[in-house]
Amino acid sequence: MSSRPARQYSSFELQRQQLVALLSSRGIHDAQVLHAMSCIPREVFIPPALYTRAYEDSALPIDNRQTISQPYTVALMTQLLQVQAGQKILEIGTGSGYQAAVIAHLGAHVVSIERHAILSQKARTALQQLGYNVVCRIGDGTIGYREGGPYDGIIITAGAPDVPEPLAKQLAIGGRMIVPIGTLEEQRLYTVIRTGEETWKAEDVGPAKFVPLIGRSGWNE
Ligand code: SAM
Repeated sequence: MSSRPARQYSSFELQRQQLVALLSSRGIHDAQVLHAMSCIPREVFIPPALYTRAYEDSALPIDNRQTISQPYTVALMTQLLQVQAGQKILEIGTGSGYQAAVIAHLGAHVVSIERHAILSQKARTALQQLGYNVVCRIGDGTIGYREGGPYDGIIITAGAPDVPEPLAKQLAIGGRMIVPIGTLEEQRLYTVIRTGEETWKAEDVGPAKFVPLIGRSGWNE
C-alpha cells in the first residue's frame, strides 16, 4: 500500500465514501457497519490488476477461482449478524479476508476458516497489514472449530446444501448464524438463531448467490 501513488489513494478514499452512500441507499442502516466499510481499504484484499474495480458493488475474482463477495452482501450479512464488541465470531470461507476485517473492525474476536491455504495466507497478510487481529485457520470449515466456541455468531460465506450440523452446535444459545442455503446455482440467505440446547429458529432473508461450501457437511468436491 505504501508504494501506491497519493492521487490513487485519495481517489480510493472518495470511491469508498461513494460506495458506502450506495449501500446506505440500498437499505443498509447499521451505522457501525457503514462506518467500518468506510474505513477499510477493499483494494488491499483484491489482486492488483483489479484495483480500479475495488469499489464497484460487485463480487470480484481472487485466487483459486474464488471470489471476494459483493460489498452489499458483506454489509447485509454483517448487519444481520448484529455484531457487538467483544463477541466471538466464526467465519467460514475467509476468501480475501475482507469480510473478516469488517467484523474485526466492529470489535469482535474473529476466527476465520478457509479450505485453500494460499487464500488463507494472503488474507492473513492483508489483515495483519491493516492491524486486524483475526485468527486465520486452514481446513474444512463445515466441521467448525469447537475449541474456540461457543460462538455468539457464525457467518458462512459460501453456499451450503443445508445448515452444517457441527456449526449449529457450536453456536451459543441466543447466537446467530448467517448462512446461504440452496442449490449449487442459487441459494436463500437465512438467519438461524439457536433458541435452546436442541432448538434453532430460521428466518429466510432473501435470495443469494455464492460459490459452493465444499466439505464434510457441505457439497462434495
Ligand atoms: N468472505 C470472503 C471474503 O470476504 O472475501 C468471501 C468468501 S468466498 C465467496 C467463499 C470462500 O469459501 C472461498 O474462498 C472458498 O474457498 C471457501 N470455502 C468453501 N468451502 C469451504 C469450507 N468447507 N471451509 C472453508 N472455506 C470454504
